[in-house]
Amino acid sequence: MVDYRNIQKFLQSRIKRRNLMIGAGAFTGLAIASQFPHQQAIAKGRFSDYPFKLGVASGEPYDTSVVIWTRLAPEPLNGGGMPPVNVPIRWEVATDPSMKRIISRGTVLATPELAHSVRVVVEGLSPHTWYWYRFNVGSEASPIGRTRTAPAPGSFANQLKFALASCQHYEQGYYTAYKYMAEDDLDLVIHVGDYIYEGGITTNVNSPRRHNGTEIFTLEDYRNRHALYKTDENLQAAHAAFPWIVTWDDHEVENNYANFISQVDTEPDQDPVIFLQRRAFAYQAYYEHMPLRPFSRPVGPDMQLYRRLNYGNLATFHVLDTRQYRTDQPCGDGARQRCAENLSPEATITGKAQEDWLYDGLDKSTARWNVLAQQVIFSQRNTRAGGLDTYSMDIWDGYVASRDRLLRFFEQRQPSNPVVLAGDVHSNWAMDLKANFDEPESAIVGSEFVCTSISSGGNGSDTSATVQGYLPFNPHIKFYNGQRGYVRCNVTPTSWRTDYLVMSNVTTPSGTISNRASFVVDNGIPGIRQVV
Ligand code: FE
Ligand code: CA
Repeated sequence: MVDYRNIQKFLQSRIKRRNLMIGAGAFTGLAIASQFPHQQAIAKGRFSDYPFKLGVASGEPYDTSVVIWTRLAPEPLNGGGMPPVNVPIRWEVATDPSMKRIISRGTVLATPELAHSVRVVVEGLSPHTWYWYRFNVGSEASPIGRTRTAPAPGSFANQLKFALASCQHYEQGYYTAYKYMAEDDLDLVIHVGDYIYEGGITTNVNSPRRHNGTEIFTLEDYRNRHALYKTDENLQAAHAAFPWIVTWDDHEVENNYANFISQVDTEPDQDPVIFLQRRAFAYQAYYEHMPLRPFSRPVGPDMQLYRRLNYGNLATFHVLDTRQYRTDQPCGDGARQRCAENLSPEATITGKAQEDWLYDGLDKSTARWNVLAQQVIFSQRNTRAGGLDTYSMDIWDGYVASRDRLLRFFEQRQPSNPVVLAGDVHSNWAMDLKANFDEPESAIVGSEFVCTSISSGGNGSDTSATVQGYLPFNPHIKFYNGQRGYVRCNVTPTSWRTDYLVMSNVTTPSGTISNRASFVVDNGIPGIRQVV
């Protein structure tokens, strides 16, 4: 066990050093003798540089409200570059892209406690309507963002088109997929995690980009890392184009963490007390940089991320958090043979409270499509190797009893059209959910679509000899592809269509995108079928 005092000292010294840098070096051009001159200077709109370098975002679309977001960060990679004072930001929402017909406006205070990030819950909007929004501070204006509310409760929208994305390692590829996504015809975007990666600078000379420092541990570290990722103009374009619904996976904190348990490694955070401090920093920075509702604001190391969003009667998104409440990976994090812990009913990937909340919501749902928007592969995936059945312990395969309870629920309670979405594995998959994956004749009880990474893993390739080798042991898996890109879902009252859009490459900024495959599910008839 690592010495607790050492890590505390380590973390504190890093924080002190960063604070010093922000106080002394970052605010060129402004008087820094006292707080008062800052406020005067900022009232006149003088920043050390353009303050909206991280762009704008919106999210959490309800029928009459949506969250709009920005952060003042004239020096994004150096703590933001703002003085430690509150700064009022004006916001406005319009019904036209040139912001002439303003229907709502106000002022919100950017505070140092939230790294001068702001979120406004814009209320009183019309259902199923496009809006445009902008922030102003001093004489500086943000880019204009566009957002859209959900249809009214009980109403049947004819169509919902959304993109599914995950895993955007900054170093391993360009976000060109987001450029295409921003130009796509969509209502919203769902991101299912690995929005940032926590590691240091790669030594791989073939990686097209570099992280901004060593592995991140402190609040300042996590803020600067989020800021680095948010400086990407393609990512900003996708945020500005649509409202997003986000949930996290592991890398927003640390690879393969489980609740308060750090990944087994040599880092000085193996003590759960220390790891929870790190988690608190990571959750705080995540909240500051995502267009989440205020109820998600973290309290210490805890953050309310699982939640439900309705898209009229057409779809309900049950957004899950399979990291914060899970028991430790049974028998280790990697690919393993089944073990007793792995099958134990005590092993849980959601925690009891979230599991009960999910059943309750599925039972009460009046939606045609019940979407589980979550992080890691749900279906069984036997990566059989060396003649032995093998499973990843970091995904639902590691928590067999959790999954079996949910599959039994699907079979017995029959919520309308369950569709599971996942990411994490840096590859595309499509599969039928089976009442019992080990019995090919058992009932199909839903569908799962797994999206590949935006950039993680570099260019990838269409097929894999390893995957081809074990697919025969997984007859419910209908599709695999190992390129980068995003998944587009087109949902109507009568059918669900999923398109797998893949990038020619991500190691140059000029990759092109094409539709690799499409699958359809018909309302009321479980089972996916390939149409392209
Ligand atoms: Fe990832
Ligand atoms: Ca992951």
